[in-house]
Amino acid sequence: MDKKRVYRREAGKEKDAGEKQKKSLCPVSGKCGGCQFVDMPYKAQLKRKQKQVELLLKEYGKVKPIIGMEEPAHYRNKVHAVFAFQKGRGIVSGIYQEKSHRVVPVESCLLEDQKAGEIIQSVRELAKSFKLKAYDEDSGYGLLRHVLVRVGHVTGEIMVVLVLGSPILPSKKNFVNELCKLHTEITTILINVNNKRTSMVLGDKEQVIYGKGYIEDELCGRRFKISAKSFYQVNSVQTEALYAKAAEYAQLTGKETVVDAYCGIGTIALAVAGQAGKVIGVELNKDAVRDAVTNAKVNQIKNADFYQNDAGRFLTQMADAGEKVDVVFMDPPRSGSTEEFLNALIRIRPKRIVYISCEPETLARDLKYLTGKSSYRVQEITPVDMFPFTGNIETVCLLGN
Ligand code: SAH
Repeated sequence: MDKKRVYRREAGKEKDAGEKQKKSLCPVSGKCGGCQFVDMPYKAQLKRKQKQVELLLKEYGKVKPIIGMEEPAHYRNKVHAVFAFQKGRGIVSGIYQEKSHRVVPVESCLLEDQKAGEIIQSVRELAKSFKLKAYDEDSGYGLLRHVLVRVGHVTGEIMVVLVLGSPILPSKKNFVNELCKLHTEITTILINVNNKRTSMVLGDKEQVIYGKGYIEDELCGRRFKISAKSFYQVNSVQTEALYAKAAEYAQLTGKETVVDAYCGIGTIALAVAGQAGKVIGVELNKDAVRDAVTNAKVNQIKNADFYQNDAGRFLTQMADAGEKVDVVFMDPPRSGSTEEFLNALIRIRPKRIVYISCEPETLARDLKYLTGKSSYRVQEITPVDMFPFTGNIETVCLLGN
């Protein structure tokens, strides 16, 4: 049987076993689909993730022991809930049932930041007293669609994004006052308008109704501005462990030209800028690039440039221009990188490639391509448990010639 199938079959088995357990730690496990391993001891979770990574990746190089968390609960700094109207209950907040658009009410969650969870409960209760209607996906009627809460792990700043089906929030001022009175930690509130039939949470239009419209957080000793739509790692504690390992793999001496591809708000680029000659970040999301540019300024980093572009196209342009690059960090989304990107990487021939991946299957696919088409070889792989209780696996991988 091929490895992917074994990997999926094993993951499936685990889930069945979890569902059969009589009393789960989580009252909605089995319905939610968020955590595959909620009732498995943490050590056992780490062991099975280690095995899965080895199964998929050991043919490419040595897999080091997974870096786990000391306190794995409530690690998520970004929490999302969807609203719905349910007969007999009124407005409920929760998550979509796995593979459906039925909303499962959630009171608290083992993964999520507890303060964020409390804020979501308050938004729901306030919605009831302000007589706001939950948005109905089928008819398109109603107002309140989702809420997104982001918490700065170090700063404690909190952003609340109310996602509405239309732009007007009745009694906006009072709503904001009441919510801020209940939770004085909230530093900013935004309205985001999403009137499309889509599974995407956020729409394009945004309006700041309280505070500065973004939060700041600290990571690896740097300060970062985070907008509602920018990607920011959800597990701050493990992100520092991940970046430390990535920086160790990069072996920077202060002279190198470094590319941070798929850079988000520039976290990796800015974390290593002090150890490099020059860092160049590329990212598709406009808001994230804007945040990255601000973040360089805020941290007084002068040797970092950020570009808004498709990473593959950008790297190809660099290869065409004969640019010299010493180290490339790449941290693509779950779908992995592209042949266009990997071909350009081979042409540029950096000394080291540090590939950070949140999906070992696409990492395996890209490693197969890269090692098949070039003399690059994997020197070491380290899994990092960024997503305890779930089946998701993050890895960082060093390649060299
Ligand atoms: N390295 C960052 C972000 C990683 S997430 C961090 O650790 O925080 C992956 C990022 O890739 C997201 O910000 C996403 O917007 C971006 N992205 C997705 N497709 C892309 C593409 N084709 N080109 C460049 N960036 C892309």
